[in-house]
Amino acid sequence: MTAPIPRPSPHHRHDGDGWVECSFGGEPHRHWGRFGAAGLFLARRSPDGRVADVVLQHRALWSHHGGTWGIPGGALASGEDVVAGALRESAEEAGIVPAAVRIIGQHTVDHGLWRYTTVVAEPAGSARIEPRATDAESLEVRWVSRRSVSRLPLLPAFAVALPSLLALCDRPEVSSI
Ligand SMILES: [Zn+2]
Repeated sequence: MTAPIPRPSPHHRHDGDGWVECSFGGEPHRHWGRFGAAGLFLARRSPDGRVADVVLQHRALWSHHGGTWGIPGGALASGEDVVAGALRESAEEAGIVPAAVRIIGQHTVDHGLWRYTTVVAEPAGSARIEPRATDAESLEVRWVSRRSVSRLPLLPAFAVALPSLLALCDRPEVSSI
């Protein structure tokens, strides 16, 4: 594995910023976020109730897996719960107003010493959300149609989680809450 490129003086440093060495699954690797990490998977539906578009972040080239597409997110601060962290990161990176989203579920990848929680949400009520890149972590942040997502080079971990995230959104009991 190549050494990570140092992050350019981020605007929003906190005590969770840092790498965690991980041996989950046998092969040594590392994760960003001393207290774990969280991100926001924001989906909007077509009239039939299925997910039509999701908000994706084209990751800055200097970042881990730079140039791939994933979701707004990042390291949790100490004591920060996953929902608060995901909403803070998506506000910082994508200009998404926390009050404009409604949370419908969570999906967690647990590596023991480190975990990543994807907070799954949709626009609250009739909220119209126009995400955009609001800091240096992104080349671009925008709605991507469901059928276009799989044609993009995805962050590997996001590609693995994507079917579960879409299934969570498409579950009828979730959309009818
Ligand atoms: Zn790991």
